[in-house]
Amino acid sequence: MIFKNTFFSLMLIIFITLSCAVDEDRKLADESNTSEWLAYGRTHSEQRFSPLQDIDTTTVKNLRVDWYLDLPNDVALVSTPLVIDGILYFTGTMNRVRAVNATNGKLVWEFDPEVAKYIGTDRKPGWTQSRGISYYKGKIFTATWEGRLIALDAKTGEPLWSVLTIDPDKKMSITGAPKAFAGKVLIGNGGSEAAPNRGYVTAYDAETGKLAWRFYIVPGNPADGFESEAMKMAAETWTGEWWKYGGGGNAWHGFTYDEELHTLYIGTGNGGPWNPKVRSEGGGDNLFLSSIVALNPDNGSYKWHYQTTPGDAWDYNSNMDIVLATIKIKGKDTKVIMHAPKNGFFYVINRETGKLISAKPFVETTWASEIDVITGKPKINPNARYDSGSVYITPSPHGAHSWHAMSFNPQTGLAYIPTIHDAAIFDASKINVNDWKVNPGKGGIAVGLSDPDSLPRPYKGSLQAWNPVTQTLAWIVPHQEVWNAGTLTTAGGLVFQGTASGMFHAYNAYHGDMLWTFDAGLGISAPPITYKIKGRQYIALLVGWGGAFAGVGNKALGWDYNRQTRRLLVFSLDGKANVPSQPPPYFVTPIVDMSFKIDDNLASRGRDLYWQCFNCHGAHVIAKGMAPDLRASPIALSEEAFSLIVRNGAKVNMGMPAYKELTDNDLKALMHFIRKIANESETVSSVKGSM
Ligand code: CA
Repeated sequence: MIFKNTFFSLMLIIFITLSCAVDEDRKLADESNTSEWLAYGRTHSEQRFSPLQDIDTTTVKNLRVDWYLDLPNDVALVSTPLVIDGILYFTGTMNRVRAVNATNGKLVWEFDPEVAKYIGTDRKPGWTQSRGISYYKGKIFTATWEGRLIALDAKTGEPLWSVLTIDPDKKMSITGAPKAFAGKVLIGNGGSEAAPNRGYVTAYDAETGKLAWRFYIVPGNPADGFESEAMKMAAETWTGEWWKYGGGGNAWHGFTYDEELHTLYIGTGNGGPWNPKVRSEGGGDNLFLSSIVALNPDNGSYKWHYQTTPGDAWDYNSNMDIVLATIKIKGKDTKVIMHAPKNGFFYVINRETGKLISAKPFVETTWASEIDVITGKPKINPNARYDSGSVYITPSPHGAHSWHAMSFNPQTGLAYIPTIHDAAIFDASKINVNDWKVNPGKGGIAVGLSDPDSLPRPYKGSLQAWNPVTQTLAWIVPHQEVWNAGTLTTAGGLVFQGTASGMFHAYNAYHGDMLWTFDAGLGISAPPITYKIKGRQYIALLVGWGGAFAGVGNKALGWDYNRQTRRLLVFSLDGKANVPSQPPPYFVTPIVDMSFKIDDNLASRGRDLYWQCFNCHGAHVIAKGMAPDLRASPIALSEEAFSLIVRNGAKVNMGMPAYKELTDNDLKALMHFIRKIANESETVSSVKGSM
């Protein structure tokens, strides 16, 4: 009897827990809720479509700033805010989370996870900010750069539990939003290039933080036994001794929960290293690299997968958004996934079966001519995997589309893709594939990369409206710069997008005409959101240039890491706030020190070392706004100061990691390289000035 009662109570508890989880997920999937923005992509569908229509194609011209919040201690801002019950939540630089009143910006609470303290001198790849947070049953979930997943009380910001999701000895990091669903919260990680890493995702109990399950993306050493049948199956698509190189596959973005089908989809990363001849010497598709993998949310078991890039050789990960919709395919309502990964093809996949419906290129794709709909596999072009000499490949490893959010409007039937038109030259002729050694501290890609003389388009970025049914381009707006922010679309017939050049635009969602523009005075990297409280529709946007590859390009954008004010801007049709104007675009004057005698050998070694610096300090030592411009930095002229910051981590609290493995000679080499470039930039600007 006692047994029976205990059993009954236990069943009751399980039933209540499950039905609460179901209720919460139904709420998170409710497309009609317009007063809130509950999940990363607004709802579980990740469509970033709002049924709000007060701001529409005719009224949008009256859109003004309603309130704003200056964030003077932030640098890069890339995240999607959430709005729950009148409170707006967002994460900023160094993973600080803030909760503010969604109608006036008044601070409710702030949580600082003290990332610098936890990271110490243990350098991590990745960046100092996250793309978002997650909400579930009264809790906000946030993940930190160095690998913690933390649950906060949404009302007070008090930490409720915290778990370390990454082995501290591994060169992995987190930049993605956790995904909460069905009583659990999932987190991935990045670092496929940083070291011999084996990617995985982990789900924890949302209430307690107890580990629920872990799914590895690539198989480990068969001698250690496989964790699951799925890993055994995956291992059949690998050759050689792949586990020595880690394999990669890290899932750092793109997690979608399908509430209708109770299925979790994860977008997986590229191979580590990139060169498949090193990674898997006898060839093979290398599952589950560059795939969408459907999992059972309860235990993480495998359901199906679709691999977008078999045998990846180009960093074509499939970490991009996985957007759910029901659309008419051949006249029949079909539950689909829409996915525009780096490889440049737009995929429509049946999410009940995992079968490919269609895939067409949304940019020029020189690596593959087409995707065979029957086999689901790409027709890869000759020498695309750089078997015989160098090859021009588009999309470049930056991808045709990266982490900047895509949105889908069920009324226009169009997906809005922040698109990149870029190419790269791959050349493995200098790589000894038989003797390529993985560097345990640094990883690597095992192929040479360079910029080509020509690019696929006269513009490097664009906003593209794509029809997933006909697989055709509906309209395109070219952008001069590469990295433009994610999109929002509404029932008001609008698409919103911020650009690298600091403009926040509203377009007609049907035709692409620009209807409204706001000059934010600083590059925009975060996607906008919308919500309605007390009869007023708001559009909110974080302004703070940054995120992976915001440092690419050989030209300064005018954004300075401590000059323009980082801001949360919130607009409405009744907005009356006067936002202080930003200082104008700023371009540094490099310091030219004639007394500094440049040693060309050291400078050349410094050039090789600089690849670890460009993501923040900018390609070609031209800062793009996330960190100081080293050409104009007096620190780079003082051996003592340079060593304190670069090797000893004196500015870890600002997000500058400690490169403790650098020798005195390495530091010198970097200084010589910086001086060489500073002198050259001076020459370039004076030559330009005289023309
Ligand atoms: Ca990658």
